[in-house]
Amino acid sequence: AKADGKRRWAMFDPDRNATEVARLRLSAQLPAALERGEFYVDYQPLVGMRRNDVVGVEALVRWAHPELGRLGPDRFIGLAEETGLIVPLGRWVLRQACLQGRRWARELGADAPFVSVNLAVRQSRDPNLVSDVAAILDETGLDPAKLQLELTESAIMGTADEPLESLRELSRMGVRIAIDDFGTGYSNLAYLRHLPVHELKIAGSFVEGLREADREDPVDARIVRTLVDLAHALGLTVTAEGVETRAQARRIAETGCETAQGYLFARPGPPEAVHELIIGGVPG
Ligand code: C2E
Ligand code: CA
Ligand code: CA
Repeated sequence: AKADGKRRWAMFDPDRNATEVARLRLSAQLPAALERGEFYVDYQPLVGMRRNDVVGVEALVRWAHPELGRLGPDRFIGLAEETGLIVPLGRWVLRQACLQGRRWARELGADAPFVSVNLAVRQSRDPNLVSDVAAILDETGLDPAKLQLELTESAIMGTADEPLESLRELSRMGVRIAIDDFGTGYSNLAYLRHLPVHELKIAGSFVEGLREADREDPVDARIVRTLVDLAHALGLTVTAEGVETRAQARRIAETGCETAQGYLFARPGPPEAVHELIIGGVPG
């Protein structure tokens, strides 16, 4: 197997080889990084369109790498998925988010936002998912209604029935389930109807085309409207992601989206920054 690996190695061009080495190095560093506490979580508000308030907060993981500086999730989540480290890493993020959610609940009572946590495909298939979530909720004392889990279409629309059953259990516990980046994967609409899902998050790539009426991408605008109508027909709420301009926020509100997320309102940041927005209100 070693000789085989060497032969394949020889076929790589030098550039490709260097990025591959960097990838492997990063990948190998993940477990120790988790042990040493090099990961941290930023939070980004989900803003209610009606009252411009913070209804939820998405937890987004980052890596404070000792040599490379701050790395975004796009640099390491894929690697963690490949190696399986995503399961303990994802559990760590979930626990941090629940601890933070509990802090907000203590400070703000019933008005506290829910925390929304991304679940990788591998986590959604993990047989311990439900018991892990239950244990973390129990330990942190967070009300299950103040937790939302975000899964992509591919995580939800698995071939096996298992992910479905665990989602159903989580939903029964009172946890909110959201479909992330909706419209970018493939969803079986018939299936969607029977899923224990509460919210659709429309991918920023569709929101991008929304502008003032005359300068708008008509196809993107039509897609957003269709997705919102579909969600509402299914009894789900909708969050629009990647809202960067006032025009987009206005268009989003017009289509009946309940919630929006994006740089217009706030960039992902430390929990203190979100706290200020919760108390002081959201600009825009
Ligand atoms: P996502 O779940 O779609 O998260 C939203 C991404 O869009 C975040 O990127 C956020 O910073 C970015 N974003 C927010 N508002 C705007 C905007 O107005 N314009 C633009 N252009 N971008 C905006 P980030 O933090 O780099 O995360 C990238 C992806 O990494 C996430 O996409 C998610 O799929 C994944 N991810 C992040 N944290 C976790 C985690 O704890 N577990 C797992 N499994 N995946 C995670
Ligand atoms: Ca997400
Ligand atoms: Ca998303």
